[in-house]
Amino acid sequence: MRGAGSGPVNDERLQPQLRIDHTAIAANTRLLHSRTKAALMAVVKADAFGHGAVETARTVVAHGATQLGVTTLAEALELRGSGVRAPILSWLNAPDTDFSPAVDARVDLAVPSTEHLRAASAGARKAARTARIHLHMDVGMARDGAAPHQWPDLCTRAAALEAAGTVKVTDLMGHLGCADRPEDPHNRAGRDAFAQAGRVARQAGLRPAHHHLAATSALLNDPSSHHDLVRVGAGLYGIAPASAGLRFAATLTAPVVSVRDVPANTAVGYAHTWTTHRPTRLALLPIGYADGLPRATSHQAHVLVRGRPRTVAGMFSMDQIVIDVGDDPIAPGEPVTILGPGDHGEPTPADWAGWAQTIPHELLTALGTSRRIIRRHLTHPVPPAPARLLCTSLENTT
Ligand SMILES: *Cc1c(COP(=O)(O)O)cnc(C)c1O
Repeated sequence: MRGAGSGPVNDERLQPQLRIDHTAIAANTRLLHSRTKAALMAVVKADAFGHGAVETARTVVAHGATQLGVTTLAEALELRGSGVRAPILSWLNAPDTDFSPAVDARVDLAVPSTEHLRAASAGARKAARTARIHLHMDVGMARDGAAPHQWPDLCTRAAALEAAGTVKVTDLMGHLGCADRPEDPHNRAGRDAFAQAGRVARQAGLRPAHHHLAATSALLNDPSSHHDLVRVGAGLYGIAPASAGLRFAATLTAPVVSVRDVPANTAVGYAHTWTTHRPTRLALLPIGYADGLPRATSHQAHVLVRGRPRTVAGMFSMDQIVIDVGDDPIAPGEPVTILGPGDHGEPTPADWAGWAQTIPHELLTALGTSRRIIRRHLTHPVPPAPARLLCTSLENTT
């Protein structure tokens, strides 16, 4: 196959591209920070929601985040291994983890149980360095964090180990389960439970420097939840109500592999669930549900072709979708915009999530795990899809 007059199109040119706009991540970081007096912990779990953890960490730290948050120790150590020096908190690890590499790498540890506390202390002794821990209280999700009846004992034991010098309780943390619905009474209950947890910790003799409860929704909706540190993930990537003024940072394009002109009444794709109703041109894209495009959006999704919305025809295949491009003289090699911030009329991650009845988080993290999608990091705003994908070598990639 040839890309119109430009010589052979190599394999990389046939891969979908996820372009990450770091000016958007930077602007989102600054905007979120401007909404609070608290310090900002940027959550870069799940490879920064599919955007690339190391690159995102660098951007957010340069634009006001003073700490990073991840789920697992492996994620934290990967950041350290890439030269990221900001404080990093890891909050989900097995209770019997060998925490010595984490302590050695100055990774803060969330401690939701006495088992974790013991393991953190053991890791500290092994690493011959004090473990910095964030005691984690469950304030009403029944997910992670110590249950309220375990909290006093956890605080007492942490204070004893602090006196022994193996751990330092730097922070108390909690997480709200309903913060995206500000009027939900569980938010007040969660705030109250967190305040009570703080009093219990004080009585046990702990003097944590920071308290953190709010994530993106609570940061935007509820100043009374901010305390002195907020942990924001979603908002960094533009996932928030439109009214927040944040911007999606990801733009996904895929090049047309081949085209075919078909008559009316041509059945397209598996099970023939879709039929052309006029003579039209069909374009094949090398991306499918294995790359994270939800198959449940078949018959709803559209993409942007030459500035116009065009329907995805028929069922999504594992690695391929077919677009009905009507009378557009689109040719192989031409890029199609699958999602983006919406500047040019392309669907956003929120549109896709709506079609799939899910949340943009799920869509973006899934795209981030595709090994076929090439991720490119741009330090200037993502331009409209170039007329030929071959132009992308001119982009300022980092
Ligand atoms: C994912 C997560 C966050 C970030 O939440 P967002 O809604 O993405 O801002 C904060 N804290 C914990 C414990 C999390 O799991």
